[in-house]
Amino acid sequence: MVTAVTASPAAAFDPASCSRLVVKIGSSLLVDSDGAVRREWLAGVVADIALRRAAGQQIVIVSSGAIALGARRLKLEKGGRASLEDAQAAAAVGQVALAGVWEALLGAEGLTAAQVLLTLGDLEDRRRYLNVAATIARLLDLGAVPVLNENDTVATTEIRFGDNDRLAARAGQAAGATGVILLSDVDGLYTANPASDPTAARIPVVAALTPEIMAMATGETRSGMGSGGMAAKLLAAQMAGAAGIALAICDGRVDRPLTHFSQAGGGTLFLPPRAAKGRKAWLAGRITVAGTITVDDGAVAALKRGASLLAAGVTQIDGDFSRGDVVAIVGPAGEALGRGLAGYDADDARAIKGLRGDMQAAVLGYAPRAALVHADHLVLI
Ligand code: GLU
Repeated sequence: MVTAVTASPAAAFDPASCSRLVVKIGSSLLVDSDGAVRREWLAGVVADIALRRAAGQQIVIVSSGAIALGARRLKLEKGGRASLEDAQAAAAVGQVALAGVWEALLGAEGLTAAQVLLTLGDLEDRRRYLNVAATIARLLDLGAVPVLNENDTVATTEIRFGDNDRLAARAGQAAGATGVILLSDVDGLYTANPASDPTAARIPVVAALTPEIMAMATGETRSGMGSGGMAAKLLAAQMAGAAGIALAICDGRVDRPLTHFSQAGGGTLFLPPRAAKGRKAWLAGRITVAGTITVDDGAVAALKRGASLLAAGVTQIDGDFSRGDVVAIVGPAGEALGRGLAGYDADDARAIKGLRGDMQAAVLGYAPRAALVHADHLVLI
């Protein structure tokens, strides 16, 4: 399949190779500059979705646009993003309108819309995540089309996705999707900002998210309407990849964008590097962590060989976590290495950092566990 994908990026998202697909639609595509829904264009997207459904592909939609739509109705400045309170009020008003539009357009194609509003916590807490996954699976089994958005009205600054790109990647994982398509007002990832650099070239396929690739994101949204930007899209690609999901950024400015993508190609496809399964994939996609464990070069090498993280290779413990909490593991220069479930509370971890196993009992006052983070509860990113 990888050969076919390299020949035509869009092939990875065809119903033949992708049984469940997440399609994310950005605010700047869905809402025009006056704050009204671009209904005709959206009807084209829905027609594309109906075709894919008829070909046997299950579709989950991630729809932005609540804040932009609500801002117009409430006459809020800066597209409703001047303050968190404005955004939350705008989302409350706009989400009603957004749901109505989806119900009408999907209904016209004989499809049933199902609204699912999520907060970051719903996907970061393992039990709630499994609950979301079960609900989405049931909706798809029943033939409905889940339409997801962040529950912006109740999400607070510290605990929100803030962009629907990462929400789409995470939801793709919860939905058991094999592909995520981000319909965007850019047609892919460029080597430099195409607006200011004439030598900028689109990258059709990214096989590995190297630091060079990550540095290509300019971070700005073109329209100023959504909050995604290329940086969020690359983080979404990273998250999707860790869960074994292919992700494409593709041009949503054309009519019938999904058909256009499958026929003409284009965009940027991110190939999943490895398919982590279940609990490990969930762990890799966690955004919030309770603490950070810094390790030395020897431990970096051991972790890359698949070993558990031993206290002897730990140089620093930050944060106030409990045994079982998710912690970030970083290398000597602070570079992200992975995530794991802490085997000790932070204070005990601090007490034994740098110590070999035979020295730990005296410090702890009890027999030490085999590892600070066991390999079974650890995932490298
Ligand atoms: N959830 C936001 C909305 O519906 C959009 C987030 C984003 O711009 O990605 O307006």
